[in-house]
Amino acid sequence: MPQGKESTSEGSQSFWQRRPRELLLGLSTALLVAAWGWSRHAGPGSLVQGLFLTAILLGGAPMAGEGLRALKGRRVGIDFLMTLGVIGAVILGEWGEAAAVVILFAVAELLEKYSVERTRGAIKALMDLTPPTALVQEKGGYRPVLVKEVPVGARVLVKPGTRVPVDGTVVEGASTLDESSLTGEAQPVEKKVGDVVYAGTMNQQGSLIVEATKRAEETLFAQIVRYVEKAQAQRAPVQRFVDRFAARYTPAVISLALLVAFLPPLFGLPLREWMYRGLVLLVISCPCALVLSTPVAIVSALTAAARQGVLIKGGKYLETAGVVRAVAFDKTGTLTTGRLAVSTLVPFNHWEPQRLLTLAAAVEQHSEHPIAAAVVSRARAEGLTLPPLRDFVALPGRGAQARIDGQTVSVGSPRWFEEQGLLGEGIRQRIRQVASAGHTPLLVGGEGEVWGLLTVADEPRAESASVVQALKRLQVARVVMLTGDDPATAEAVAEKIGVDLTQAALLPTDKVDAVQALQREYAPVLMVGDGVNDAPALAAADVGVAMGAAGTDVALETADVALMADDLTKLPFLLTLSRRTRRLIRQNIVFALVMKFIFLLLTVPGVTTLWMAVGADVGASLLVIFNALRLQSRR
Ligand code: ADP
Ligand code: MG
Repeated sequence: MPQGKESTSEGSQSFWQRRPRELLLGLSTALLVAAWGWSRHAGPGSLVQGLFLTAILLGGAPMAGEGLRALKGRRVGIDFLMTLGVIGAVILGEWGEAAAVVILFAVAELLEKYSVERTRGAIKALMDLTPPTALVQEKGGYRPVLVKEVPVGARVLVKPGTRVPVDGTVVEGASTLDESSLTGEAQPVEKKVGDVVYAGTMNQQGSLIVEATKRAEETLFAQIVRYVEKAQAQRAPVQRFVDRFAARYTPAVISLALLVAFLPPLFGLPLREWMYRGLVLLVISCPCALVLSTPVAIVSALTAAARQGVLIKGGKYLETAGVVRAVAFDKTGTLTTGRLAVSTLVPFNHWEPQRLLTLAAAVEQHSEHPIAAAVVSRARAEGLTLPPLRDFVALPGRGAQARIDGQTVSVGSPRWFEEQGLLGEGIRQRIRQVASAGHTPLLVGGEGEVWGLLTVADEPRAESASVVQALKRLQVARVVMLTGDDPATAEAVAEKIGVDLTQAALLPTDKVDAVQALQREYAPVLMVGDGVNDAPALAAADVGVAMGAAGTDVALETADVALMADDLTKLPFLLTLSRRTRRLIRQNIVFALVMKFIFLLLTVPGVTTLWMAVGADVGASLLVIFNALRLQSRR
């Protein structure tokens, strides 16, 4: 496996080869200490100067390199600023101070690098944990197999709304695929028998049988890398802020320092003294702590969240989560466990119960919906053999349909059958009866007729009611439930959970409308969901949250946050964490600014020395970093 290869090649390198910056910093610190020691012992001399100079050159190389690289890109960055400061100190003969600036700056840079690495590690580890399996065709059904163990030539069932697990060729079925993860092209691509499909692309409406043509190790790894890269790219807004800030601020500071250094001497004041003050100003005004203040807090919070199984795809969503004023929940699979069971089976007219269940289960075999699993497992329990099907289509929010033995069989919501004008008053009556008990009614039919009624039942998650309460305590103004289920069923469940408002019989696009309506009154809005039918609403919400384990790949892909452990109590945690992070960022910024300001004031009259300037800057950076790390300690 590529991962294995990477780790062996890392293993054959020594620690220092992998960590050149640490090596340089270590050497440089040792030289500085030696130079100090020697100068105490023997006083200043050319040996001491040589030691200092080597310490400066070794420790400062990465900084100067960065500074020059930024300069080539026509950006004047912090690295450049510090390099100037060091060169100036050397010119003034302040060897020890120059070396100290170099070392303390390198320490600050490394600390920032470590905190970022730690988060990436946490995200990657979680990604490794989500077991990617494929449904491999065997005699009599489909068996989930680890993707990396799927052999070439295996036939794999790809359900609607799930990712294609392997590279392969379609041998049965037709569908459209979203290949944007590979091509960046948002337009879905039609696929039929004979077409090639790629691992990592998203199947939409139809179900496909795909024959694997490649082994999966590489694509699996590629997928993980893509996720990690995405999380990195999400840091971009903060990075851009830093660049914009440095681009304006740094030239201004350099000009100011030049003025302080050379203007007073024009009026006869001592040149050396004022050059020194200019230098101190240069080092003092290095906005390290300020620039670090936001990213370290965000990175630290993202790590804290990842440890709790909450994957946040970017700092932006973390920031928004704390100020949401409305939360919308999907019902099935989100507020309820999604582990449904068939509770009643009512055939109409001459229909035989077993035949009805057989046909319904045959269709549902290809569906990803939690309802489908319930129907199929009931049929299994009764030992029924399921006939083959053709032309399977899922209609998110409505139901599913396929051709079996030459006839079209539909399984789905009463609303869908109503739309087709198939319901009479008798059937409506039966539906109302079962729905008021909180059971979800499903109709089975075909050829313009309704053949029977099935109900499936589902329990609210144990934590649902308390989570809704907790959200209200956190001053979320509105908690609503949006579901495609029957209104009476939805009401019965909503009552147990205590949401403010329930909107039922919603199609996926209706859920989007509902979220947008909420946004008009209670922006920003957070939406939690698990299904294919929730994906558009997750995208529309300001923060979309997907259930990780129970959620479909589309939902996970679209969402901004994933609750890997499917634990709703992580929602109040997310809101609280977000608020703490926002507070902490404010603290950090205020602290960094006040600190800079005080030292700036002290510099012009010449109170501060280079030592104090460096100490203040590194000290402020460290405090900002430690303050941010507090997010990880306490819950
Ligand atoms: P929710 O919003 O509660 O998660 P959905 O929008 O996924 O529910 O589904 C709405 C309704 O559509 C379901 O209650 C069910 O009646 C019907 N439905 C959707 N998909 C299927 C399916 N595969 N089989 C049977 N019924 C389905
Ligand atoms: Mg759902």
